[in-house]
Amino acid sequence: MSKYDVTIIGSGPGGYVAAIRCAQLGLKTAIIEKYDTLGGTCLNVGCIPSKALLDSSEHYHNAAHTFDEHGINLKDLSPDFKKMIERKNKVVDQTCKGIEFLMDKNKIDVHHGVGSFVDKNTIKVIDSEGKETELKTDKTIIATGSKPNFFKGMEPDKERIITSTEALSLKEIPKTMIVIGGGVIGLELGSVYARLGTKVEVVEFADSIIPTMDETMGKELTRVLKKLKMKFNMKHKVQNVENTGEGVIVTALDKKDKEVQFEADYCLVAVGRKPYTEGLGLENVGIKTTDRGQVEVNENLQTSVDNIYAIGDVVRGAMLAHKAEEEGTFVAEKIAGQIPHINYNLIPGVVYTWPEVASVGKTEQEVRDSGVEYKTGSFPMKALGRSRASGDIQGLVKIITNKETDEILGFHMIGARAADLIMEGVVAMEYRASAEDLVRMSHPHPTYSEAVREAAMDATGDRAIHV
Ligand code: FAD
Ligand code: NAD
Repeated sequence: MSKYDVTIIGSGPGGYVAAIRCAQLGLKTAIIEKYDTLGGTCLNVGCIPSKALLDSSEHYHNAAHTFDEHGINLKDLSPDFKKMIERKNKVVDQTCKGIEFLMDKNKIDVHHGVGSFVDKNTIKVIDSEGKETELKTDKTIIATGSKPNFFKGMEPDKERIITSTEALSLKEIPKTMIVIGGGVIGLELGSVYARLGTKVEVVEFADSIIPTMDETMGKELTRVLKKLKMKFNMKHKVQNVENTGEGVIVTALDKKDKEVQFEADYCLVAVGRKPYTEGLGLENVGIKTTDRGQVEVNENLQTSVDNIYAIGDVVRGAMLAHKAEEEGTFVAEKIAGQIPHINYNLIPGVVYTWPEVASVGKTEQEVRDSGVEYKTGSFPMKALGRSRASGDIQGLVKIITNKETDEILGFHMIGARAADLIMEGVVAMEYRASAEDLVRMSHPHPTYSEAVREAAMDATGDRAIHV
């Protein structure tokens, strides 16, 4: 029987990063993955395939709508959807194979099959042919991630009522699509199809899309996505979704509690994700879960059983790949006797629409609620020379600071390459910079980053130069 220092269940960004860090620290490490490919949700049916389709559909959209403005004339343009999906599959394949290579390079034993606890030091692995193996382990890290969530009446049938997984591999470009949920998945995948010509209509329970982000971002993104002809129905509560064979009928209650119906070819259910612990045998070792089904952990990501840890989507906090990675590194270093740290306030969030939305730190509402006196500064992307040159004039940067100390408390932006630019905010806030610190740093011209400096100028007084 194989004996390990650390065994990790789940090979997503939490699990595989934890495995590599454990191996780097000299621990004999195994990883268990129930699917044939490594990489978890993120690499197989999440971050990577969605970004591949977002990029392809954005190229098509630009070719169809913005190239002529740049003096590029194209004739007989049409999307080859089959090829887009094939390219997406290739990107996924290469990325997952990269993880296999990394496991091999770091001498990590990979076991394919469903892992479950026999006792606190024994894990059983059952492969797809039913063959059982037992592993002995000193420590275990649960990194089993999450699955799509849904509510009563909107159960996905994976044919017409679909989740993100099916939306990443459709056989046709739908003419019409209803998206339940105006969160990250709904808006990213909704915009993929809207760019390809699908009439996309979002039905959202809250009074704004991306309701957990700063409210300015939701308002601006709604304006941007309406230009893609996406329609929004806020404050609508979905009651039922019916597959009619040819399409779907979605029934919801509007803000006045009046029943309304929407018809479309497909309905994408994107109302969040739920932690995945099925088949793990948590009951065999007495690991506690929360009322939301998450594995309960303390500040060291340790479960109620002291040699078993849990990380990523299966525990509390943002369901993001980089958060899972941070936690994977944290636990590996903790097990190896180091003193790691994670600043949960500084985990950035990004929505990969175009333009992108990115955010770090507190929203204006959160700062207001905390009672701290604050100031805000903002700057519109359209006032930048760089934006006019590229044609990406939509969006803005918004910085929230402590009124007394000028320390940056929140950093929110919507604009071209916001996903990359947000790191200026993360670095600044990690070092507890003031808005004045950002103003004093030279930003290259012409770049989108100049909007950050100008927003910081606005936050420190009425001194932005270019508005
Ligand atoms: P997962 O990636 O879910 O991996 C868990 C793994 O554990 C899976 O492979 C599963 O098969 C395996 N497993 C489960 N149970 C067992 C068992 N008993 N035995 C063996 N193996 C098991 N996040 C971002 O930060 N950026 C993005 O752009 C982004 N885009 C996304 C797009 C979509 C469409 C979706 C659905 C998600 C996206 N996410 C994104 C979220 C991101 O995918 C997750 O936060 C991340 O994958 C969580 O990592 P994890 O390691 O906790 O779990
Ligand atoms: P989400 O939490 O981002 O959005 C769900 C939306 O559905 C919310 O706006 C919510 O108000 C709405 N909603 C809930 N119940 C509803 C109902 N009955 N009717 C109508 N609307 C309803 O969840 P998601 O978009 O499904 O994404 C799941 C997770 O995956 C997120 O936590 C996110 O962190 C992660 N993810 C991240 C990225 C990224 O980082 N770019 C991309 C995709 C997914």
